[in-house]
Amino acid sequence: MIEAQSLTRRYGNTTAVNRVSFRVEHNGIIGLLGHNGAGKTTVMKMLSGYLEPTAGSLVVAGHDYAGGCRAVQRTLGYLPEDPPVYPDMMVADYLDYVATCKGIAREERSRAVRDALLATELGTRALDRIDTLSRGLKQRVGVAQAILGNPRLLILDEPGNGLDPEQNRHMRELIQRLARRATVILSTHILQEVEALCERVLIMHEGRIALDAGMADLRRSC
Ligand code: ADP
Ligand code: ADP
Repeated sequence: MIEAQSLTRRYGNTTAVNRVSFRVEHNGIIGLLGHNGAGKTTVMKMLSGYLEPTAGSLVVAGHDYAGGCRAVQRTLGYLPEDPPVYPDMMVADYLDYVATCKGIAREERSRAVRDALLATELGTRALDRIDTLSRGLKQRVGVAQAILGNPRLLILDEPGNGLDPEQNRHMRELIQRLARRATVILSTHILQEVEALCERVLIMHEGRIALDAGMADLRRSC
């Protein structure tokens, strides 16, 4: 599903991601854990096809990045750290718009939108304007756009960001449901989130992967 080898990204003199290698083969939830500035978002953007690596190789869902990012963007779902906001759009129209951007055919689009609304329990909000929604609901809209077309790989950047405990619990349950039919990579700076959700954790520190371990192994060694 994912094979990253010596993945590196520099911004000017800053090496945000430094020769990171890992493989993901199975479904499940994998956590990318680290402090602010560790390089998580940069990894997530490269995995999602929105940022080119400076060096290294990356194959995601059979697509080699050397062949361009567009195909990769369409085969996976991505919840960015700061999703673009379209405050005056209705939820369903926004999802239809993203489905169009993702290249989902016109005749499949309304079903894709309906499925995404159902999965995120936003059915009753379809005709609400996005700016009338709570932070938790907005974040669910972000997840809904990521799952349009049922991608087998979901890249969720800080899905719990800014949510209160109740909204966060709801988000975790949603992610667990989604993981039954997709591989989920989620980034977070909160250890408890990884403990609650993930089977495997990659701990990032200063642009490198400091630890790659199964949660069961991690618990045993602590
Ligand atoms: P995290 O998601 O773990 O907080 P980031 O990937 O956002 O980490 O950032 C990693 C490093 O790269 C940080 O030092 C950050 O300041 C730097 N960085 C991230 N994006 C940019 C950018 N667009 N331009 C310059 N530096 C950046
Ligand atoms: P470009 O290659 O033209 O710079 P972008 O990377 O900005 O394109 O985005 C590609 C397409 O995916 C755009 O049509 C945009 O609307 C859509 N898109 C980008 N980011 C998101 C997002 N976070 N949520 C929904 N759609 C997005």
